[in-house]
Amino acid sequence: MIYKYTHPEYFRDWDKPDFANLEKPLVLWGAGKIGGVADHCLKKRGINYAAFCDIAKDKWGTIFCEHEIISPDELQKRYPDAAVIITSVFYSSTYEMLQLRGYREIYDCTSLFMEIDFSDYTFWASKEYSIRNVEQCLAAILEQKTMSGRIDQIFLNITTKCSLRCRDCSLFIPYVSSPCNYCADDILSDLNKVIDSLQYVRIVNFYGGEPLLHPDLAQMIRSLKKEQRIDRISIISNGTIIPNKEVLLAMADEERFMVRLSDYKEHSPKIPEITACLEQYGIKYEIANYTYWDKQSKIGFTGHTKEELTAKFRLCTSCNVLFLINRKGYLCSTGSAVCNMGGFPYSPSNFIDLLDTENFSEKLINFITRPRNGEYMDACKYCSGNHCVQFEEKVPVAVQTKELLKFPSLTGSEG
Ligand code: SF4
Ligand code: SF4
Repeated sequence: MIYKYTHPEYFRDWDKPDFANLEKPLVLWGAGKIGGVADHCLKKRGINYAAFCDIAKDKWGTIFCEHEIISPDELQKRYPDAAVIITSVFYSSTYEMLQLRGYREIYDCTSLFMEIDFSDYTFWASKEYSIRNVEQCLAAILEQKTMSGRIDQIFLNITTKCSLRCRDCSLFIPYVSSPCNYCADDILSDLNKVIDSLQYVRIVNFYGGEPLLHPDLAQMIRSLKKEQRIDRISIISNGTIIPNKEVLLAMADEERFMVRLSDYKEHSPKIPEITACLEQYGIKYEIANYTYWDKQSKIGFTGHTKEELTAKFRLCTSCNVLFLINRKGYLCSTGSAVCNMGGFPYSPSNFIDLLDTENFSEKLINFITRPRNGEYMDACKYCSGNHCVQFEEKVPVAVQTKELLKFPSLTGSEG
C-alpha cells in the first residue's frame, strides 16, 4: 500500500533535505508514534541513522525500532555535530531546545511523509492509525511553522454519556455527574456557523463520551453528506457498541466517512463484530491500538508566570483543533470538558460563545489566533497542560473506575 498525502502543495516550497547524503550522524528526536513511522520511511529509502533521542526518562537506554534511545545530554556527549530530524508534533519547542544545545542542522520530518510505501511495515501502530498520526503531525508542524491560525480539525462533543468510565479519560467522563446528549439541531447549526467563518476544515470528528449512544447520530451524519467544505468525517468510538442500521446506512459508501475505533482490549469486546458490520456496509475504519495514554491534565492552581502560561497555552493548542460542546467553542479538550462541568472558575477568555451573532466571524478568527498572540485562557492558570506539555507522563490505557470523581474547589481568587 502506498499512502500519498492529499495536500502536498502546503509543503511544496519547504526544504526537502537529502538525508541519504548528509555527512554527519543522523539522530531522530522523538521515539514515539511519529518516530516509528519515520524509522520505516528511512529504512525504505535505505537511510541509516545513529539513534533516537527522547525527553522521556523511562525510555532512556531502551531500544526502539532497533535503535538505542538516548537522553538529550547523551546526544550532546555522543553526537555533538549530529543532524537531527524532529519526529514529534512538538516541532517548535524541540527546535528551540536543540538550538540552545548548539545544534544547527535541524530538520522537520514532513518530507518523509508526503508519500509512504507501507510494504514490509512492522511498527506496532496499525497503518491507518499511523496515517492519522502522520496527518495530525503534518498539520501541527505546518501550524507551528507558519502560525497561520488555521483550524485543522473540529471535534463535536455530542454527548457526555459513555459506556466506559476510564479513570484517566482526557475528557474527564468519570467527573460528569449528570451525563446528557446535546441537541442535534444545535450541534449542526453551531458547526455550520463555524464552517461559514472558516470556509474549510480538514476533519470533523463526532465524539463524546461515546457518540454511538446519541440517538440522533444518523441524522447528524446524513446532514453532513451535503457539506462539501469538509475533507473527512469520523466517528470516534470505544469498541463497545455495534452501530445501528440507521447509522450504518447513513455512512455507507461515502468516501469521506470513517469510524475510528479505540481498542481497549478486554474493555472493547465488540471490535470484531463492529468491523465485520463496517466491512459489510463498505465503511472505512481505523483501529487505534494504544499501548499507553498520556496523563490527563492535572486541575489545580499552578502559580505559573505569564510567560509560562503563554508558552504552555501555545504548546497545548499546537494541533490547531477546535472543540465544540454545549454551544461553546474551545481550543483544547481539557478546557472544553472541564469548563463545561464548571470545574474551572468562570472566565469569558476560556471559550467562544457560539450563540453570539454580532461579528461572529471576526470574533472566531481572533479567538483561534490567540495562541499566536500569547493570549492564554484563564483556565490555564488552573491546569497543568495537556499531553502536548506533559509528554513525559504515561498511564495505562482505559483503567476503569466506578467512583464519581471530583475536581478540587477553585474560586478564581487564587490567580
Ligand atoms: S471510552 Fe473512556 S476515554 Fe473514551 S470517552 Fe469514554 S470514558 Fe473517556
Ligand atoms: S493549560 Fe490546560 S486549559 Fe490551558 S490550553 Fe493547556 S490543556 Fe487547555
